[in-house]
Amino acid sequence: MSTPASLSTFFIRTFGCQMNEHDSERMAQLLLAEGLSRVDEPRLADVIIINSCSVRAKPEHKALSEAGRFRKARRSRGVRIILAGCVAQQEARALLDRADYLDAVLGPDAIARLPRVLAELRAGRGPILDVAEHDASAPGFVPLQARRAEGPGPVSRQVTIMKGCDNFCAYCVVPLVRGREVSRPLADILSEVEELGRRGTREVMLLGQNVNSYRDPGGASFPELLRRLDAQAAVQRIRFTTSHPKDLGEELIAAMAGLPRVCEHLHLALQAGADGVLARMRRGYTREEFTRRALRLRAEVPALALTTDLIVGFPGEREADFRETLEVVERVAFDGAFSFKYSPRPGTLAASYPDDVPAAEKQSRLERLQALLTRLEADSLRRLVGRELEVLVEGPSLRDPAALTGRSRCNRVVNFACQGPVTPGSLVPVRVLEVRGHTLLGERLSSASS
Ligand code: SAH
Ligand code: SF4
Repeated sequence: MSTPASLSTFFIRTFGCQMNEHDSERMAQLLLAEGLSRVDEPRLADVIIINSCSVRAKPEHKALSEAGRFRKARRSRGVRIILAGCVAQQEARALLDRADYLDAVLGPDAIARLPRVLAELRAGRGPILDVAEHDASAPGFVPLQARRAEGPGPVSRQVTIMKGCDNFCAYCVVPLVRGREVSRPLADILSEVEELGRRGTREVMLLGQNVNSYRDPGGASFPELLRRLDAQAAVQRIRFTTSHPKDLGEELIAAMAGLPRVCEHLHLALQAGADGVLARMRRGYTREEFTRRALRLRAEVPALALTTDLIVGFPGEREADFRETLEVVERVAFDGAFSFKYSPRPGTLAASYPDDVPAAEKQSRLERLQALLTRLEADSLRRLVGRELEVLVEGPSLRDPAALTGRSRCNRVVNFACQGPVTPGSLVPVRVLEVRGHTLLGERLSSASS
């Protein structure tokens, strides 16, 4: 295998969740700081990082086959291939034995040591395995640098507030690969957001597997964190994801209803709508409890967009159970959703249940569910036509460079025509004129605040 003399360019492909996107950004920053430059195409890269996700079978397979695709480039021009993320964490050594084209396997908690891995690879050593044990006493929250050398502008930024998960839902591999829940100290979060705001960020997205079970080591709860961030007033908008229905208490509902900077969007994963399935999934709520809380939140926050995750074909799910899911989805009228076919994940409780819903049945349920979700999303978008929305401007629209694009507080993409310059980061009032696919088209109204 030949070796590009210096390993001076890199390419990152990300699979899975926002947490992974955030980790990819951190890896990019570390490599930029090492003097590498980022390229948009793998064929131009000396180092290729596949940041993998093991939450479901499909993205896991995709990540591995993606890594395998670069085998030839590795042989011919000495590209180095690093597998990062949850698949790396979970499969660790087995992967290195099986996939002889990997030069390094790097778990999510080992990201900070990427420069050392790079130095080893530059010295011609490898393969390298670094999948640190999760260490609750040194969780290693590393804020993204406030000023990025490249990438999207700083209008909206992600801030990790907690890591890991203690819920052990029967189907889910996250607690096994991301470890136990660890919350970041409130003071650190406040100072990171303060700094981001000073440098031009207008919106923060607070990230965690289960943000509403956040607890500062000193005892402050998630609603308290929201109150402190709102009062700090360093950014105009506060978002967060993901929340667990069992931890959606009155205090959080009051915070969402009462704090002006907290946006009207909640991602609240229902997963299934039949009590027997929810109990076997170990979700910790019933269909009635979920529905009651969701509708209460809608009553308290009228402009709310409520989105969700759903799984079809969990072991033992009968047609009647699936219909109950459809009923809850219709009743709560989700504004958007991600829906998946169940796939057993190694090491989880549900992997020991018979995966007894036939593949064709899973597919048919997914299609029926998605048809309903598509209708509900279209209704939700249509309800916004004629309304005035506050849009946080991100920049020119990709589809139509004469128009600008941004997001509403309810997290809809809004494209709008506009006379005169508007700087990214401005908050502008836009009247919605029509629905275009999943996005909205509008016109800017005159009174701008920025
Ligand atoms: N922490 C988030 C979810 C993280 S995983 C939460 O609790 O909301 C993202 C989504 O993947 C889950 O909400 C679930 O819908 C889906 N998922 C997780 N494990 C799965 C599996 N084994 N099969 C199919 N979908 C799964
Ligand atoms: Fe997985 Fe459940 Fe934790 Fe979400 S709450 S990450 S679904 S175990």
